[in-house]
Amino acid sequence: MNQIRIGAFISKCRKAKGWTQSQLAEKLGITDKAVSKWETGRSMPDLSLFVPLCTLLGITLNELFAGECIAEENLKEKADEVLMEVITNWLGHDKWESKECDTAPQNVLEVENVSKLYENVSIGRETENNSVLAVNGVSFQIPHGSFVGIMGASGSGKTTLLNLIATIDKPTNGMIRISGQNIVDIPEKDTAEFRRRHLGFVFQEYNLIETLTIYENIALALTIKEVSKDSIRPMIQSLSEKLDISSILDKFPYEVSGGQRQRCACARAIVVNPDIILADEPTGALDSHAARQLLDTFAMLCREYSATILMVTHDVMAASYCDRILFMKDGEIKAALNRERKNKQTFFADILKKIEWIEGESYDVPEVVNP
Ligand code: ADP
Ligand code: MG
Repeated sequence: MNQIRIGAFISKCRKAKGWTQSQLAEKLGITDKAVSKWETGRSMPDLSLFVPLCTLLGITLNELFAGECIAEENLKEKADEVLMEVITNWLGHDKWESKECDTAPQNVLEVENVSKLYENVSIGRETENNSVLAVNGVSFQIPHGSFVGIMGASGSGKTTLLNLIATIDKPTNGMIRISGQNIVDIPEKDTAEFRRRHLGFVFQEYNLIETLTIYENIALALTIKEVSKDSIRPMIQSLSEKLDISSILDKFPYEVSGGQRQRCACARAIVVNPDIILADEPTGALDSHAARQLLDTFAMLCREYSATILMVTHDVMAASYCDRILFMKDGEIKAALNRERKNKQTFFADILKKIEWIEGESYDVPEVVNP
């Protein structure tokens, strides 16, 4: 952001309107001196004056910051550039850079050349010496705070991959790190403890404990984590308000809807602040309204609780809520797609195109009017 350039631009726009400095000052209810200071680049308009000034001069905020008129076709590119500059300027350049180093997106999950070979798979009634390479040389990373989807047709290896990450199964080859820890080396007897401490799960079957209330189901996760009794209730209360389940806390799982059960599973997963939440087809058993609500919940958990989520899905609508999609076929990751700044609708269309390209045929698309 160049103050002198902005000043010159304000001056130019003011003259184009045929106003003197004092006329502009009067319209804004400030002194002539202030306007003169802006125009010579000695000061910037006060934050509260940005909008009225732009309105008076007939320019946009982006144009004001850029110190020039921006042609329609360059608007997006220019706006991003200008926004970055404004942010840099406000936060201070040096500070901004060092901050970026400190918080360089840490990878919560690192998967390196992972394969899983199932040997002696029985086919039909006979057991042949047959093997299936369910996951084949897969590598990817998931940065902290992101919502990543894995898509692929049935049998492409999604669940196997998720189970490897969940320490439920062991890879034949390769390395998996969660928050820097190589989980492939964790002895069998310690995996349950590792899962409790580091992972959250939301599966298609709701895996809530039927003999406990919704409240107790969530509280159980915290008790295992040795959270003090006094802090459990306030934690659950504030979280359940966010997830819109506060009115059902005293009910049993069989008394509430599928969507409510899944949001309870979300609450239980996030409340212990896991390194990563793993979700396998979490919307699979929900109607489209409940599915959307769950996906909004996931997106909210990423935004407001900095949760990191890895979700397996074959549903394009569900995938369109993610920041990034990995496409699996025959045990391999064939492609990836980043959401970037696209809205859900555009991302949805991009995902469809990618699937068509990968599968080489049209995909079974559910009727979705407004993804
Ligand atoms: P997806 O979740 O994408 O539908 P899976 O990971 O369940 O795919 O399966 C990938 C491949 O691995 C399939 O061919 C499946 O038959 C095989 N497979 C999965 N689990 C096992 C297992 N426990 N033993 C043998 N083969 C398996
Ligand atoms: Mg599966």
